[in-house]
Amino acid sequence: MATAAAKNAIPNPAPAPQPKKRWSRLRALKRIIQLGAVGAVGYASYVVYQNRHPTEQKQFDPSKRTIVLLGTGWGAVSFLKKLNTDDFNVIIVSPRNYFLFTPLLPSCTVGTIELRSIMEPIRFITRHKSRNVKFYESECTDIDPESKTISITDVSDIKGAVSNTTIPYDYLVVAIGADNQTFGMAGVREHACFLKEIWDAQKIRTRLMDCVESAGFASQTPEEVSRLLHMVVVGGGPTGVEYAAELHDFLKDDLQIWYPELVDKLRITLVEALPNVLPMFSSQLIQYTERTFKQNNIEVLTKTMVKEVADKEIKVMDANKNMVSIPYGLLVWATGNCPRPLARKLMARLKEGGQSSPRGLLIDEYMRVAGAQDMYAIGDCTFTKYAPTAQVATQQGLYLASVFANLARIERGENRKISPFEYTHQGSLAYIGSDRAIADLPFLNGNVSVGGVATYVFWRSVYISNMFSFRNRFLVVGDWVKSRIFGRDVSRE
Ligand SMILES: Cc1cc2nc3c(=O)[nH]c(=O)nc-3n(C[C@H](O)[C@H](O)[C@H](O)COP(=O)(O)OP(=O)(O)OC[C@H]3O[C@@H](n4cnc5c(N)ncnc54)[C@H](O)[C@@H]3O)c2cc1C
Repeated sequence: MATAAAKNAIPNPAPAPQPKKRWSRLRALKRIIQLGAVGAVGYASYVVYQNRHPTEQKQFDPSKRTIVLLGTGWGAVSFLKKLNTDDFNVIIVSPRNYFLFTPLLPSCTVGTIELRSIMEPIRFITRHKSRNVKFYESECTDIDPESKTISITDVSDIKGAVSNTTIPYDYLVVAIGADNQTFGMAGVREHACFLKEIWDAQKIRTRLMDCVESAGFASQTPEEVSRLLHMVVVGGGPTGVEYAAELHDFLKDDLQIWYPELVDKLRITLVEALPNVLPMFSSQLIQYTERTFKQNNIEVLTKTMVKEVADKEIKVMDANKNMVSIPYGLLVWATGNCPRPLARKLMARLKEGGQSSPRGLLIDEYMRVAGAQDMYAIGDCTFTKYAPTAQVATQQGLYLASVFANLARIERGENRKISPFEYTHQGSLAYIGSDRAIADLPFLNGNVSVGGVATYVFWRSVYISNMFSFRNRFLVVGDWVKSRIFGRDVSRE
C-alpha cells in the first residue's frame, strides 16, 4: 500500500524536452568544428614550420652521376620533386629562379590574383631535397652531345666577373618549354603582348590601365577613345579565351564602378583563324562558351586570319576573305607554341640522329632524345602525340624521375625493368567569365562535358589542389577573397 502511494507520489519522469537535445547536438557539432579548426591550424603551422626550416643536406658526391636539369617549369619541377637526390647530384640551369603556376596567369593580368602568389622560388624546393642541388640562374645557350657539356650564360641585368661557362653532365634533362608562336609575322613581337611569363602578365596589366587612363585624357577624340578601349585577343585557345574572360570580369566588376564614363566604350574582340574557339573541347562546350561570350559582349571573329600587325591596328582577312583593319589599344597574342632557339639548335645538331620535325624535340616513350646519348626531354619543348600542357609535362617529369630511380637500382645490381611512359588524361578545364567554367572530364570509357557556376567552383578547387606548395594555395585563396571583398586594384604600376 505504502509502496503504491509512494509510486503515485513520484511523478513519471517527463520526456526530455526536444530543444535541449538539439542544443546538445549543436554543442557537439561546435566542439567537432572547434577541434577540426584547431587541427587544421596545427597542421598548417607544422607545414609552414617545416617549409621554413629545411634540414641539413648531403653534399655533392663525386662518386655519383650528375644530372643537369634545364628549366624550372612544370616538367622540371615535377621531375625534381620526385627525384631521389640520394642517388644523383643535380644541377639546375634556368633563367627563372622560380616556378610559375601558368594556369592562373590570366587572372594576374587584371589583378584577381597577385603575381607573386603564383610564383614559387626554386630554392624553396631545392633546399628540401636530401642532397644539395646547385642552381645557376642562367640560360643554356648550347648543348654539345658529343662532349656531354652545356654552355650557360647569365642573362640577368647584373653580372659578375664570370657570366659564361661550360658545365659537364652525365645525364641531361631538357625541360625548357617553348617560345611564343608568331608565324614569323612582322610587328607581333614589337606591338603585341604575349601571355606566357610573369612579365607578360605585368605588361598587360600596366598597358590595360594605361589605355583606360589615356582614353580619359582631356579632349581625347572619339575615334581615339574607341581605339584605346578596344582590347583585341588573337588566338581562341584556352589562354586567349581565359584572358578575354578575365578582362570581361574586370570590366563588369571594377571598371564599371571606377570609370563609369568610359566603360560602355570598352570592347573586347577575340580573333581566331579556325571555325571555332577551344577546338580541344567538345562541341557542346564550344557552343556554351560562344553563347556566354555573346552575352558578355565579347565579339568572337572566327575564320579570321591576322595578316599584318602595326602599332595601332591589325589587318585581318575575315571569314568572307575581305581585308579589314581593326584598330586596337591593347593586343594580346596567344597563338600557341614554337621551339625555342636552343631546341632548334639542338634539333639541327641531331638531324642525322633522327630529329626530323621542326615542331619540337623528338623523343621515344622513355623520354630519350632521338639521336643523343644520356639526354632526355620533357614538356613543351618536345613534339609528341600529346598536347603541350602542364598536365603532360608534369606526368612526363614524374615518369622520368621514376626512370632515374630504376637506373640507380640497376646500377646497384638490382634487376629492374623500365616501362614506357603512359599518359593519363585527367580532363580539360577553362574559365569563360562571369563565374562560369567548362570542363571535359574523362568518365569510364567516355567523356562528361559540364559548364556553369558549379564547374567554376570545381575549376578553382582543382587549381588549388594542383599547386605545388601550401604557401601558394594560401596566397591565391587570400587573393580571391581580397578581390571579392575590395574589388581589383585599378592603379597603374
Ligand atoms: C597562360 C597559360 C595558361 C595555361 N593553362 C594551362 C592549364 O590550365 N592546364 C594545362 O595543363 N596547361 C596550361 N598551360 C600550358 C602549360 O603552362 C605548359 O604546357 C607548361 O608550362 C609546359 O611545361 P614545361 O616544363 O615544358 O615548360 P615551362 O613550364 O614553360 O618551363 C620552361 C622552363 O625552361 C626555362 N628555360 C627557357 N629557356 C631556357 C634555356 N635556354 N635554358 C635553361 N632554361 C630555360 C624557363 O625559364 C622555364 O623555367 C598554360 C599556359 C599558359 C601560358
